[in-house]
Amino acid sequence: MSVQPHFQRVALIGFGLIGGSIARAAKLQGLAGEIVTTARSEKTRARVLELGIVDQVVATNAEAVKDADLVILCIPVGACGPVAQEIADYLKPGAIVSDVGSVKGAIVRDMAPHLPKSVHFVPAHPVAGTEHSGPDSGFAELFINRWCILTPPEGVDAAATDRLRAFWAAMGAKVEVMSPDHHDLVLAITSHLPHLIAYTIVGTADELAQVTESEVIKFSAGGFRDFTRIAASDPTMWRDVFLANKEAVLEMLGTFTEDLAKLTRAIRRGDGEALFDHFTRTRAIRRGIVEIGQDSAAPDFGRPLAALKKP
Ligand code: NAP
Repeated sequence: MSVQPHFQRVALIGFGLIGGSIARAAKLQGLAGEIVTTARSEKTRARVLELGIVDQVVATNAEAVKDADLVILCIPVGACGPVAQEIADYLKPGAIVSDVGSVKGAIVRDMAPHLPKSVHFVPAHPVAGTEHSGPDSGFAELFINRWCILTPPEGVDAAATDRLRAFWAAMGAKVEVMSPDHHDLVLAITSHLPHLIAYTIVGTADELAQVTESEVIKFSAGGFRDFTRIAASDPTMWRDVFLANKEAVLEMLGTFTEDLAKLTRAIRRGDGEALFDHFTRTRAIRRGIVEIGQDSAAPDFGRPLAALKKP
């Protein structure tokens, strides 16, 4: 445990893969005097209480941020604007407000106008994850040797950025600072486009599978199953990523085939329902492969996990 916590009170809004991993790592490393959390549903809040990782589980976002020195929104990108508006009046002056969203331009656009001048807004994106979601999916080692990108808007207090950098570094992350637009361009090619390709291939194969009686699933070890891991990622999260980073993703698209054009059209039209349905369908394929023993359900293909060093 650290001798000195980095923050007296840390509020995590949302307790899924990322929020749950931050809670576990921060607890293990002694980074917070107290961690208070909330989630949208009573079901998740009850489960977080059962897990016993955090100090307090509260029912509302406003209650969670009260007196917090660090507030991190660990929720889908599309939900960040409305939640920023909801918590604005309850934030402690001097607090650092951050997030973990996979798109940064839209986060700055949607959150910044709501936040009072008395807080420091330092958006963040830990480039680490698995295809699992929900309160049980997080683990303390998720961020070890993974990059966390900070995108402070112009004029943000450098000391606040440094404090957040130190917090992420203490959870094992390597930290880099860049502009929100540059982040979105880089991630469009390194993360968003690969996900789009995986979602396309798995969806196309699903249609073939209906004709070939599940041969695609049966013989998936030829490479297809690795795409299915990515294509099983959370539909809400990825719907929001593509809607929020539309420009950069479209710029990276160029020579796509007919099946990919279907998804491209859905993104261009902002048809979240079509994307969500598609992603939900592909997620089920992944489950089918795990069920017939063609792959492990463990995160990161069950590769051994590194351990955090004691501070
Ligand atoms: P998750 O496991 O699905 O958890 C999402 C959490 O957000 C849940 O606690 C959920 O509450 C809450 N939530 C959902 N919709 C909400 C809304 N409209 N208002 C308030 N709370 C809401 O998701 P995650 O994977 O941790 O992702 C969270 C964020 O991290 C996303 O912005 C994503 O872009 C980013 N991120 C994800 C990964 C990854 O690999 N998964 C990697 C890096 C960054 P309930 O459970 O009560 O519904």
